[in-house]
Amino acid sequence: VSSEAHLRHDSVHLIGDLLRRPSGAIEVDRFLDEYEASQWLDERRLREHQLAGLRRLVWHTAQHVPRFAGEMARRMPVSGVVSLEDLPVQRAVERRRRPEAFVAEGVAVGVQRCTAGTRGPRQQVIMNPEAHARQIAVRRRVERWAGAPPARVVAAWGRDASREPRPLDHEQLDAFAYALGLARTVLVSAPASSYRALSTVSELQRVGLRGLIARGEQSDGAIATLAERLGVPLYSWYIAAEVGVIAAPCERAVGLHVQADHLLVEVVDEHGRPLPDGESGRILVTDLHNEAAPYLRHELGDIGRLLPDRCPCGRALPLLELVGRCT
Ligand SMILES: [Zn+2]
Repeated sequence: VSSEAHLRHDSVHLIGDLLRRPSGAIEVDRFLDEYEASQWLDERRLREHQLAGLRRLVWHTAQHVPRFAGEMARRMPVSGVVSLEDLPVQRAVERRRRPEAFVAEGVAVGVQRCTAGTRGPRQQVIMNPEAHARQIAVRRRVERWAGAPPARVVAAWGRDASREPRPLDHEQLDAFAYALGLARTVLVSAPASSYRALSTVSELQRVGLRGLIARGEQSDGAIATLAERLGVPLYSWYIAAEVGVIAAPCERAVGLHVQADHLLVEVVDEHGRPLPDGESGRILVTDLHNEAAPYLRHELGDIGRLLPDRCPCGRALPLLELVGRCT
């Protein structure tokens, strides 16, 4: 076989692979590589990384997002952003009242979805394609922390935070049971609220179940009981439709690591002032990459605290504990 034939054969394979991939998959892979590296930044370099992202976002927001343009220019020179405390807190209620004021002018919209409505009235979420691809990359990183691959993720209601979970019917439970049977090692991923129904699927007892991923809040201890009964670890993720995965346990499963190389989490008092580690307060989130409709110090309506402890895994990504909901 000539080298030319080899080359042609390889090219055909490469093109075939490219054609089979969903659009955007290559970009997701690139971002996943980036996050695989940045999760090991030490504290100082993580702060530098965050500050660079924040400066970029604030610069963009002050120029293109009506809600912030005037206020930011008045408060400070954009080039002088050194901390989030310089920026106003965004209340969800204000965003609901004037959603158009939070949408950037002239940025391509990639994905639109809706919040699940568990933290107040449902609201539209708008993202540029890069922000969406990065959210998928972050989700794949925390799936890796839970053991996938080699475990294959079998998901109910998809793998992202984008779909509102509804009660699963018999047909869906059958499809779920069938999917479980297709892989040798399995990681189940589902909204926390779906686990009561999923626990009736007898195929879960099969050998090769690597763990359970519970996306979002648990209303009761049903998932923990199920994980214990099955003898597998439980990975509870803190997610929101606005920004995707916010915090998730690593392979040590000690606590929830904030995805701090991708988004910023603050815990503040009622005046928006940061609280020291260990104290409970309102959670604010800043997505460093959504330029289409930026979430900048966005109040999610949750209460939590940042832990002073470091995880034994060695990552500097801080640990977060959820406490409850704002009243
Ligand atoms: Zn860890």
